[in-house]
Amino acid sequence: MIIDYTCQKGKLELLFTPEEDDPTTQHIFNNVFKKTMKVEMGSRRCEIHLPTDWTVRSIHPDAFALAMMAIVHPFCGPKIRLRLGVSRTFHNQVKTATNIEILPINEELTPRKAPTSAVPALSYSGGIDSNVAALLLPKDAHLFYIDRMPPKGQTLKLLNQEAAYYACDSLTKLGRNVHKIKTDMQYIRKPVGFSTFLTDSVPALLLADYYGLDSAGHGQTLEIGYQVGIQNFKDCKHNNVGSPWHKLLEAIDMPFTLPTIGLSEISTTKIINQSPFRDFAQPCARGKVKKPCMNCYQCFRKSLLERVMMNRPINNKFLDKLFNIKEVKKIISTSPVHFENVLTYITAHYNGKHNDMLALKKKTRGDTLKVDWMNKYYYESQELLAPKYRNHIKKEIYKHIKPMNKHDIKTMKRDMGACAPSQAGHGT
Ligand SMILES: [Zn+2]
Repeated sequence: MIIDYTCQKGKLELLFTPEEDDPTTQHIFNNVFKKTMKVEMGSRRCEIHLPTDWTVRSIHPDAFALAMMAIVHPFCGPKIRLRLGVSRTFHNQVKTATNIEILPINEELTPRKAPTSAVPALSYSGGIDSNVAALLLPKDAHLFYIDRMPPKGQTLKLLNQEAAYYACDSLTKLGRNVHKIKTDMQYIRKPVGFSTFLTDSVPALLLADYYGLDSAGHGQTLEIGYQVGIQNFKDCKHNNVGSPWHKLLEAIDMPFTLPTIGLSEISTTKIINQSPFRDFAQPCARGKVKKPCMNCYQCFRKSLLERVMMNRPINNKFLDKLFNIKEVKKIISTSPVHFENVLTYITAHYNGKHNDMLALKKKTRGDTLKVDWMNKYYYESQELLAPKYRNHIKKEIYKHIKPMNKHDIKTMKRDMGACAPSQAGHGT
Protein backbone atom coordinates (compact mmCIF):
# COMPACT_ATOMS: atom_id res chain seq x y z
CA MET A 1 0.00 0.00 0.00
CA ILE A 2 1.43 3.35 -1.03
CA ILE A 3 0.27 6.18 1.21
CA ASP A 4 0.82 9.77 0.16
CA TYR A 5 -0.62 13.01 1.44
CA THR A 6 -1.09 16.73 0.99
CA CYS A 7 -1.42 19.10 3.90
CA GLN A 8 -2.71 22.65 3.73
CA LYS A 9 -3.60 24.81 6.71
CA GLY A 10 -3.98 21.72 8.87
CA LYS A 11 -6.19 19.85 6.40
CA LEU A 12 -4.44 16.52 5.87
CA GLU A 13 -5.58 14.69 2.77
CA LEU A 14 -4.45 11.07 2.55
CA LEU A 15 -4.21 9.12 -0.66
CA PHE A 16 -4.02 5.33 -0.65
CA THR A 17 -2.79 3.40 -3.67
CA PRO A 18 -3.12 -0.36 -3.25
CA GLU A 19 -0.40 -2.57 -4.72
CA GLU A 20 -0.92 -5.96 -6.30
CA ASP A 21 -0.59 -7.96 -3.08
CA ASP A 22 -2.90 -5.75 -0.98
CA PRO A 23 -6.11 -7.57 0.03
CA THR A 24 -8.56 -4.71 -0.49
CA THR A 25 -11.50 -7.05 0.18
CA GLN A 26 -11.96 -9.06 3.39
CA HIS A 27 -14.61 -11.36 4.76
CA ILE A 28 -15.20 -10.77 8.43
CA PHE A 29 -17.61 -12.10 11.02
CA ASN A 30 -20.10 -9.53 12.25
CA ASN A 31 -20.76 -10.24 15.93
CA VAL A 32 -23.88 -8.08 16.11
CA PHE A 33 -25.89 -9.99 13.51
CA LYS A 34 -23.80 -13.19 13.67
CA LYS A 35 -23.04 -13.44 9.99
CA THR A 36 -20.06 -13.18 7.71
CA MET A 37 -19.93 -9.98 5.70
CA LYS A 38 -17.80 -8.58 2.94
CA VAL A 39 -15.73 -5.55 3.82
CA GLU A 40 -13.78 -3.64 1.21
CA MET A 41 -11.89 -0.43 0.67
CA GLY A 42 -14.71 1.96 -0.13
CA SER A 43 -12.52 4.98 -0.76
CA ARG A 44 -8.87 5.55 -1.58
CA ARG A 45 -8.71 8.98 -0.04
CA CYS A 46 -9.80 10.71 3.13
CA GLU A 47 -9.24 14.00 4.90
CA ILE A 48 -8.60 14.90 8.52
CA HIS A 49 -8.96 18.50 9.71
CA LEU A 50 -6.27 19.27 12.28
CA PRO A 51 -5.35 22.66 13.82
CA THR A 52 -4.43 25.15 11.05
CA ASP A 53 -0.77 25.38 12.09
CA TRP A 54 -0.31 21.57 12.16
CA THR A 55 1.99 20.10 9.52
CA VAL A 56 3.34 16.60 8.90
CA ARG A 57 6.55 17.86 10.53
CA SER A 58 4.53 18.37 13.75
CA ILE A 59 4.51 14.63 14.36
CA HIS A 60 7.16 11.97 14.76
CA PRO A 61 7.16 9.83 11.57
CA ASP A 62 6.67 6.62 13.60
CA ALA A 63 3.45 8.00 15.15
CA PHE A 64 2.31 9.18 11.70
CA ALA A 65 2.97 5.67 10.33
CA LEU A 66 0.98 4.06 13.15
CA ALA A 67 -1.94 6.41 12.43
CA MET A 68 -1.85 5.28 8.79
CA MET A 69 -1.86 1.63 9.84
CA ALA A 70 -4.84 2.28 12.12
CA ILE A 71 -6.79 3.53 9.09
CA VAL A 72 -5.96 0.84 6.52
CA HIS A 73 -4.58 -2.17 8.41
CA PRO A 74 -6.99 -4.89 7.18
CA PHE A 75 -6.47 -3.80 3.58
CA CYS A 76 -2.67 -3.86 3.71
CA GLY A 77 -0.49 -6.54 2.22
CA PRO A 78 3.14 -7.15 3.23
CA LYS A 79 4.35 -3.55 2.71
CA ILE A 80 3.29 0.00 3.53
CA ARG A 81 5.25 2.68 1.68
CA LEU A 82 5.27 6.20 3.05
CA ARG A 83 6.94 9.41 1.94
CA LEU A 84 8.83 9.90 5.23
CA GLY A 85 10.89 7.03 6.64
CA VAL A 86 10.30 5.40 10.02
CA SER A 87 12.91 4.49 12.63
CA ARG A 88 14.62 1.10 12.30
CA THR A 89 13.29 0.16 15.78
CA PHE A 90 9.67 0.93 14.83
CA HIS A 91 10.03 -0.85 11.49
CA ASN A 92 11.27 -3.97 13.29
CA GLN A 93 8.53 -3.85 15.94
CA VAL A 94 5.79 -3.56 13.30
CA LYS A 95 7.35 -6.40 11.30
CA THR A 96 7.47 -8.65 14.38
CA ALA A 97 3.92 -7.84 15.49
CA THR A 98 2.16 -7.87 12.10
CA ASN A 99 4.53 -9.21 9.46
CA ILE A 100 4.04 -5.89 7.63
CA GLU A 101 7.06 -3.84 6.59
CA ILE A 102 6.78 -0.08 6.84
CA LEU A 103 9.15 1.59 4.40
CA PRO A 104 11.41 3.43 3.92
CA ILE A 105 13.64 3.12 7.00
CA ASN A 106 15.33 6.32 8.13
CA GLU A 107 18.48 5.07 9.85
CA GLU A 108 19.05 8.46 11.48
CA LEU A 109 15.66 8.61 13.15
CA THR A 110 15.46 7.66 16.85
CA PRO A 111 12.20 6.25 18.28
CA ARG A 112 9.61 8.68 19.65
CA LYS A 113 9.87 9.67 23.30
CA ALA A 114 6.92 11.54 24.87
CA PRO A 115 7.87 14.69 26.81
CA THR A 116 7.87 14.33 30.60
CA SER A 117 5.09 16.94 30.84
CA ALA A 118 2.85 14.89 28.52
CA VAL A 119 -0.77 14.05 29.34
CA PRO A 120 -3.07 11.18 28.26
CA ALA A 121 -5.38 11.16 25.21
CA LEU A 122 -8.87 9.69 24.98
CA SER A 123 -10.99 8.96 21.91
CA TYR A 124 -14.28 10.41 23.05
CA SER A 125 -17.69 9.55 21.57
CA GLY A 126 -20.08 11.33 23.95
CA GLY A 127 -21.57 7.97 25.01
CA ILE A 128 -21.90 6.60 28.53
CA ASP A 129 -18.76 4.49 28.51
CA SER A 130 -16.48 7.14 27.05
CA ASN A 131 -17.81 9.69 29.54
CA VAL A 132 -16.91 7.28 32.32
CA ALA A 133 -13.45 6.93 30.76
CA ALA A 134 -13.13 10.74 30.76
CA LEU A 135 -14.25 10.83 34.38
CA LEU A 136 -11.65 8.28 35.45
CA LEU A 137 -8.71 9.95 33.66
CA PRO A 138 -6.80 12.92 35.08
CA LYS A 139 -8.59 16.20 34.28
CA ASP A 140 -5.80 17.44 31.99
CA ALA A 141 -6.34 14.59 29.48
CA HIS A 142 -7.04 15.60 25.87
CA LEU A 143 -10.31 14.24 24.47
CA PHE A 144 -10.76 13.75 20.73
CA TYR A 145 -14.18 13.47 19.18
CA ILE A 146 -14.34 12.23 15.61
CA ASP A 147 -16.65 14.68 13.87
CA ARG A 148 -17.91 12.60 10.95
CA MET A 149 -18.21 14.42 7.66
CA PRO A 150 -20.65 13.06 5.09
CA PRO A 151 -19.49 12.53 1.50
CA LYS A 152 -19.71 15.71 -0.59
CA GLY A 153 -23.29 16.79 -1.29
CA GLN A 154 -24.79 14.17 1.05
CA THR A 155 -25.95 13.96 4.65
CA LEU A 156 -25.07 11.32 7.25
CA LYS A 157 -27.40 8.33 7.30
CA LEU A 158 -28.84 7.27 10.68
CA LEU A 159 -26.05 8.92 12.68
CA ASN A 160 -27.05 12.14 14.45
CA GLN A 161 -24.17 13.95 16.11
CA GLU A 162 -26.23 16.61 17.95
CA ALA A 163 -26.11 14.79 21.28
CA ALA A 164 -22.37 14.12 20.95
CA TYR A 165 -21.69 17.80 20.16
CA TYR A 166 -23.72 18.72 23.23
CA ALA A 167 -21.61 16.33 25.34
CA CYS A 168 -18.37 17.81 23.89
CA ASP A 169 -19.53 21.37 24.60
CA SER A 170 -20.68 20.44 28.12
CA LEU A 171 -17.28 18.94 28.93
CA THR A 172 -15.51 21.99 27.48
CA LYS A 173 -17.59 24.19 29.81
CA LEU A 174 -16.37 22.01 32.70
CA GLY A 175 -12.80 22.92 31.74
CA ARG A 176 -11.87 19.74 29.88
CA ASN A 177 -9.71 19.75 26.74
CA VAL A 178 -12.07 18.53 24.03
CA HIS A 179 -11.25 18.62 20.32
CA LYS A 180 -13.75 17.90 17.56
CA ILE A 181 -11.76 16.60 14.61
CA LYS A 182 -13.59 16.63 11.28
CA THR A 183 -12.89 13.65 9.06
CA ASP A 184 -14.41 11.32 6.48
CA MET A 185 -12.00 8.44 7.16
CA GLN A 186 -14.92 6.15 8.06
CA TYR A 187 -15.56 5.82 4.30
CA ILE A 188 -12.25 4.03 3.78
CA ARG A 189 -14.26 0.99 4.83
CA LYS A 190 -17.38 -0.15 2.98
CA PRO A 191 -19.81 -0.70 4.65
CA VAL A 192 -19.01 2.50 6.52
CA GLY A 193 -17.19 2.02 9.79
CA PHE A 194 -13.79 1.99 11.39
CA SER A 195 -11.39 -0.61 10.08
CA THR A 196 -9.64 -1.26 13.42
CA PHE A 197 -9.98 -0.59 17.14
CA LEU A 198 -7.23 2.02 16.83
CA THR A 199 -8.92 4.04 14.07
CA ASP A 200 -10.68 6.35 16.51
CA SER A 201 -7.26 7.16 18.02
CA VAL A 202 -5.98 8.56 14.72
CA PRO A 203 -6.52 12.23 15.75
CA ALA A 204 -4.68 11.57 19.04
CA LEU A 205 -1.81 9.88 17.20
CA LEU A 206 -1.44 12.71 14.67
CA LEU A 207 -1.57 15.31 17.45
CA ALA A 208 0.64 13.39 19.90
CA ASP A 209 3.55 15.81 19.57
CA TYR A 210 1.41 18.89 18.92
CA TYR A 211 -0.27 18.60 22.34
CA GLY A 212 2.31 16.39 24.09
CA LEU A 213 0.54 13.07 24.66
CA ASP A 214 1.88 9.92 26.30
CA SER A 215 -0.99 7.43 26.22
CA ALA A 216 -3.98 6.56 24.04
CA GLY A 217 -7.34 5.32 25.21
CA HIS A 218 -10.96 4.70 24.37
CA GLY A 219 -14.10 3.85 26.32
CA GLN A 220 -14.60 0.20 25.38
CA THR A 221 -15.83 -1.92 28.28
CA LEU A 222 -15.17 -5.46 29.52
CA GLU A 223 -17.67 -6.79 26.95
CA ILE A 224 -15.76 -5.71 23.84
CA GLY A 225 -12.38 -5.64 25.58
CA TYR A 226 -12.48 -9.26 26.75
CA GLN A 227 -15.30 -10.49 24.51
CA VAL A 228 -17.45 -11.15 27.57
CA GLY A 229 -21.02 -11.74 26.36
CA ILE A 230 -19.75 -11.51 22.77
CA GLN A 231 -17.62 -14.67 22.28
CA ASN A 232 -15.48 -16.78 24.57
CA PHE A 233 -13.59 -14.72 27.12
CA LYS A 234 -10.40 -13.64 25.38
CA ASP A 235 -7.54 -11.58 26.80
CA CYS A 236 -7.67 -8.02 25.45
CA LYS A 237 -3.98 -8.07 24.55
CA HIS A 238 -4.58 -11.00 22.20
CA ASN A 239 -7.87 -10.10 20.52
CA ASN A 240 -8.30 -7.44 17.85
CA VAL A 241 -9.03 -4.70 20.42
CA GLY A 242 -5.50 -4.93 21.82
CA SER A 243 -3.49 -6.72 19.17
CA PRO A 244 -1.26 -5.61 17.53
CA TRP A 245 -1.98 -2.12 18.84
CA HIS A 246 -0.83 -2.28 22.47
CA LYS A 247 2.69 -3.26 21.42
CA LEU A 248 2.87 -0.69 18.63
CA LEU A 249 1.60 2.09 20.88
CA GLU A 250 4.35 1.24 23.33
CA ALA A 251 6.84 1.52 20.46
CA ILE A 252 5.90 5.21 20.04
CA ASP A 253 5.86 5.83 23.82
CA MET A 254 2.10 6.21 23.87
CA PRO A 255 0.89 3.02 25.60
CA PHE A 256 -2.76 2.16 25.98
CA THR A 257 -4.64 3.61 28.93
CA LEU A 258 -8.09 2.03 28.77
CA PRO A 259 -9.91 3.22 31.90
CA THR A 260 -13.13 1.24 31.35
CA ILE A 261 -11.75 -1.98 29.87
CA GLY A 262 -12.10 -3.85 33.20
CA LEU A 263 -15.65 -2.59 33.81
CA SER A 264 -18.86 -4.12 32.46
CA GLU A 265 -21.64 -1.91 31.10
CA ILE A 266 -23.37 -2.49 34.42
CA SER A 267 -20.48 -0.83 36.27
CA THR A 268 -20.12 2.07 33.81
CA THR A 269 -23.87 2.73 34.13
CA LYS A 270 -23.52 2.78 37.91
CA ILE A 271 -20.59 5.22 37.72
CA ILE A 272 -22.28 7.58 35.25
CA ASN A 273 -25.43 7.65 37.39
CA GLN A 274 -23.34 8.89 40.30
CA SER A 275 -21.62 11.58 38.23
CA PRO A 276 -22.51 15.07 36.92
CA PHE A 277 -21.60 13.76 33.43
CA ARG A 278 -24.94 11.95 33.56
CA ASP A 279 -26.62 15.13 32.29
CA PHE A 280 -25.02 14.88 28.87
CA ALA A 281 -23.80 11.28 28.42
CA GLN A 282 -25.82 9.99 25.50
CA PRO A 283 -26.31 6.25 25.02
CA CYS A 284 -27.57 6.48 21.43
CA ALA A 285 -25.77 7.75 18.33
CA ARG A 286 -28.99 8.30 16.37
CA GLY A 287 -31.11 10.40 18.74
CA LYS A 288 -31.18 14.08 19.65
CA VAL A 289 -29.97 15.87 22.77
CA LYS A 290 -31.49 14.09 25.80
CA LYS A 291 -33.73 12.18 23.35
CA PRO A 292 -32.35 8.75 22.42
CA CYS A 293 -33.97 7.38 19.23
CA MET A 294 -35.63 4.47 21.10
CA ASN A 295 -35.48 2.57 17.83
CA CYS A 296 -32.09 0.81 18.03
CA TYR A 297 -30.54 -2.10 19.93
CA GLN A 298 -28.37 0.29 21.93
CA CYS A 299 -31.51 2.09 23.19
CA PHE A 300 -33.14 -1.26 23.99
CA ARG A 301 -30.23 -2.46 26.11
CA LYS A 302 -29.23 0.82 27.74
CA SER A 303 -32.76 1.96 28.59
CA LEU A 304 -33.58 -1.35 30.28
CA LEU A 305 -30.28 -1.36 32.13
CA GLU A 306 -30.84 2.22 33.28
CA ARG A 307 -34.21 1.23 34.75
CA VAL A 308 -32.76 -1.82 36.50
CA MET A 309 -29.85 0.18 37.94
CA MET A 310 -32.17 2.93 39.19
CA ASN A 311 -34.70 0.44 40.55
CA ARG A 312 -37.36 1.90 38.33
CA PRO A 313 -40.36 -0.20 37.27
CA ILE A 314 -40.43 -1.71 33.78
CA ASN A 315 -44.04 -1.78 32.57
CA ASN A 316 -45.49 -3.95 29.82
CA LYS A 317 -46.34 -1.06 27.50
CA PHE A 318 -42.70 0.07 27.53
CA LEU A 319 -41.57 -3.51 26.87
CA ASP A 320 -44.07 -3.92 24.01
CA LYS A 321 -42.49 -0.89 22.35
CA LEU A 322 -38.94 -2.10 22.88
CA PHE A 323 -39.53 -5.64 21.63
CA ASN A 324 -41.21 -4.21 18.54
CA ILE A 325 -38.02 -2.51 17.34
CA LYS A 326 -36.99 -4.17 14.07
CA GLU A 327 -33.26 -4.19 14.85
CA VAL A 328 -33.92 -5.67 18.31
CA LYS A 329 -36.00 -8.52 16.85
CA LYS A 330 -33.15 -9.40 14.52
CA ILE A 331 -30.40 -9.24 17.14
CA ILE A 332 -32.14 -11.11 19.94
CA SER A 333 -32.95 -13.97 17.58
CA THR A 334 -29.21 -14.72 17.25
CA SER A 335 -27.06 -16.64 19.70
CA PRO A 336 -25.23 -15.54 21.74
CA VAL A 337 -27.10 -12.24 21.68
CA HIS A 338 -24.71 -9.28 21.29
CA PHE A 339 -23.76 -8.09 24.83
CA GLU A 340 -25.61 -11.13 26.17
CA ASN A 341 -24.24 -10.70 29.70
CA VAL A 342 -25.97 -7.30 29.98
CA LEU A 343 -29.28 -8.91 29.04
CA THR A 344 -28.59 -11.67 31.58
CA TYR A 345 -28.13 -8.98 34.23
CA ILE A 346 -31.26 -7.07 33.18
CA THR A 347 -33.49 -10.13 33.07
CA ALA A 348 -32.07 -11.54 36.33
CA HIS A 349 -33.50 -8.41 37.95
CA TYR A 350 -36.85 -8.63 36.17
CA ASN A 351 -39.76 -10.09 38.10
CA GLY A 352 -42.68 -9.21 35.82
CA LYS A 353 -44.70 -11.38 33.46
CA HIS A 354 -44.08 -9.94 30.00
CA ASN A 355 -43.80 -12.91 27.63
CA ASP A 356 -40.96 -11.61 25.43
CA MET A 357 -39.02 -10.57 28.49
CA LEU A 358 -39.46 -13.97 30.12
CA ALA A 359 -38.33 -15.70 26.90
CA LEU A 360 -35.27 -13.45 26.82
CA LYS A 361 -34.60 -14.28 30.47
CA LYS A 362 -34.56 -17.97 29.68
CA LYS A 363 -32.46 -17.54 26.55
CA THR A 364 -29.82 -15.38 28.26
CA ARG A 365 -29.94 -17.50 31.44
CA GLY A 366 -31.07 -14.61 33.62
CA ASP A 367 -32.98 -17.24 35.56
CA THR A 368 -29.93 -19.34 36.47
CA LEU A 369 -26.61 -17.44 36.26
CA LYS A 370 -24.90 -15.45 38.97
CA VAL A 371 -24.53 -11.84 37.83
CA ASP A 372 -22.92 -10.05 40.77
CA TRP A 373 -19.43 -10.11 39.17
CA MET A 374 -20.71 -7.57 36.62
CA ASN A 375 -20.93 -5.02 39.45
CA LYS A 376 -17.19 -5.36 40.04
CA TYR A 377 -13.86 -4.38 38.49
CA TYR A 378 -11.78 -6.96 36.63
CA TYR A 379 -8.51 -5.76 38.13
CA GLU A 380 -6.26 -7.90 35.91
CA SER A 381 -7.11 -5.41 33.15
CA GLN A 382 -4.94 -2.80 34.92
CA GLU A 383 -2.06 -3.91 32.70
CA LEU A 384 -3.86 -1.88 30.01
CA LEU A 385 -3.42 1.31 32.05
CA ALA A 386 -0.11 3.13 31.51
CA PRO A 387 1.91 2.84 34.78
CA LYS A 388 1.94 6.66 35.09
CA TYR A 389 -1.89 6.77 35.36
CA ARG A 390 -2.63 3.38 36.91
CA ASN A 391 -2.97 4.42 40.54
CA HIS A 392 -5.03 7.50 39.75
CA ILE A 393 -7.54 5.53 37.67
CA LYS A 394 -7.80 2.65 40.13
CA LYS A 395 -8.43 5.11 42.95
CA GLU A 396 -11.22 6.71 40.92
CA ILE A 397 -12.75 3.32 40.05
CA TYR A 398 -12.69 2.14 43.67
CA LYS A 399 -14.71 5.20 44.72
CA HIS A 400 -17.65 3.49 42.99
CA ILE A 401 -16.80 -0.16 42.28
CA LYS A 402 -15.22 -3.03 44.24
CA PRO A 403 -12.65 -5.36 42.66
CA MET A 404 -13.68 -8.88 41.60
CA ASN A 405 -12.34 -11.66 43.79
CA LYS A 406 -10.90 -14.89 42.40
CA HIS A 407 -14.29 -16.58 42.60
CA ASP A 408 -15.95 -13.76 40.57
CA ILE A 409 -13.30 -14.08 37.86
CA LYS A 410 -13.79 -17.83 37.72
CA THR A 411 -17.57 -17.40 37.42
CA MET A 412 -17.16 -14.81 34.67
CA LYS A 413 -14.82 -16.98 32.61
CA ARG A 414 -16.91 -20.11 33.13
CA ASP A 415 -20.33 -18.61 32.37
CA MET A 416 -19.35 -16.34 29.50
CA GLY A 417 -18.35 -19.09 27.14
CA ALA A 418 -20.05 -18.85 23.79
CA CYS A 419 -18.45 -19.45 20.47
CA ALA A 420 -18.20 -17.30 17.39
CA PRO A 421 -15.38 -16.63 14.94
CA SER A 422 -13.35 -13.47 15.41
CA GLN A 423 -14.33 -10.07 14.09
CA ALA A 424 -12.25 -7.41 12.36
CA GLY A 425 -13.10 -3.78 12.77
CA HIS A 426 -16.33 -2.34 14.05
CA GLY A 427 -19.24 -0.31 12.78
CA THR A 428 -19.70 3.32 13.58
ZN1 LIG B 1 -31.11 4.64 19.74
